[in-house]
Amino acid sequence: MLVDSHCHLDRLDLAPYDGDLNKAITAARDEGVDHMLCVAISLAKLPDVLGIAEQYEKVHASVGVHPLQDSDAEVTAEQLAELAQHPKVVAIGETGLDYFYDKERAAQQQTQFVKHMQAAKICRKPVIIHTRDAQQDTLDIIRSEGDPELAGVLHCFTESWEMAKQAMDMNYYISLSGIVTFKNATELREVAKQIPLDRLLIETDSPYLAPVPYRGKKNEPKYVAEVAKFLAELRGISVEELAQITRQNYFNLFNISVS
Ligand SMILES: [Zn+2]
Ligand SMILES: [Zn+2]
Repeated sequence: MLVDSHCHLDRLDLAPYDGDLNKAITAARDEGVDHMLCVAISLAKLPDVLGIAEQYEKVHASVGVHPLQDSDAEVTAEQLAELAQHPKVVAIGETGLDYFYDKERAAQQQTQFVKHMQAAKICRKPVIIHTRDAQQDTLDIIRSEGDPELAGVLHCFTESWEMAKQAMDMNYYISLSGIVTFKNATELREVAKQIPLDRLLIETDSPYLAPVPYRGKKNEPKYVAEVAKFLAELRGISVEELAQITRQNYFNLFNISVS
């Protein structure tokens, strides 16, 4: 079975499912996707995220404020760590730096990112990091504030091999989304070929970034199967092997024990 290591179940387009999240989750299971990590992007929407995780055994959740959300600026590391005590919460994030969309708020983004790194150390959970056009600052903050024992993941990775390598040296995982299937993602495919399999995760980041052949449509967890298929072929391994490895990596990073 496959795992979607990063999705936003509270934001899916449920129109094809008569507004019923249950049906979207069943559709994913029918495509061989069972575990999902429902990632928080704001504290305002956190109750929705936690509510979904409470409903489904194989859905876990995170606590964090996305770097492009300027609300919730007053939250402290202690508050984030406290919220992460919820039994279904397995990570802090998503946090990080996005200079592609909002370089003007770089300083505020850095302050928020540091708070999340501190929260992770207080609650002893890994960090989900969003990073775009901010390689050096992201690595610097991981290096100065991170705990390699807790580690984390660079999600929806689109940056250089050099960055991936430095993050992996600090015990981080690299998660690839449907972007790797895009026609123009030649450079990213070169990175994807080199990531050691024991550092690799896969995700949809749904409802955003649907993979080929669904590009431009609303994304949903079941399409992680397309990412898996594509990467298995790129790496010259079977889909089953890729599924099994990325699944084990997911359980290892987020300390999820399965009976
Ligand atoms: Zn993100
Ligand atoms: Zn996301």
